[in-house]
Amino acid sequence: MNVGKDIFRLLRRLRSSSPAGFIRYLWLKLQGKAIMVTGSCHGCGSCCSAICLEGDKGWLRSEKSLQRIIEKYPEYGRFIVIGRDTQGFLLFRCTWCTAEGTCSSYEERLPLCRRYPESSLVFAGGRLLTGCGYRFAEVVPFEKVLRRELKKTK
Ligand code: SF4
Ligand code: SF4
Repeated sequence: MNVGKDIFRLLRRLRSSSPAGFIRYLWLKLQGKAIMVTGSCHGCGSCCSAICLEGDKGWLRSEKSLQRIIEKYPEYGRFIVIGRDTQGFLLFRCTWCTAEGTCSSYEERLPLCRRYPESSLVFAGGRLLTGCGYRFAEVVPFEKVLRRELKKTK
């Protein structure tokens, strides 16, 4: 076990979590569980019209932090601020999203679009949008179950 690495991971998680999300993270860790993303996208386009963005220092709260990201990654210029969520994080709409809710350049979508929804959303206090085809499930990771069963056979 690498204690230094674990503490670093914990601090990183703390920085990007909401208070309730961090408690949930610790609670899951104590139970040996993790969040698993299940389901699939049915292309409703809701997440492209109201999305929170994460920077190096966590979820964005100020337009200045978006500007800093755009300076480094101009492709983020496609997002415009449309308001805030209930936790004060900025909400963005992607200008590449068509009136039908589809991506106007699907092959060139950002890595974050390909990875959505990530389990870190849960710890940030976020939630899936109404009608989204994905679900977050609390599970014991397969590797953990496998390790436990292998130990029994020794
Ligand atoms: S909200 Fe969910 S179902 Fe709708 S486009 Fe986004 S990922 Fe797909
Ligand atoms: S680039 Fe495409 S998939 Fe990504 S947020 Fe914009 S419209 Fe959605």
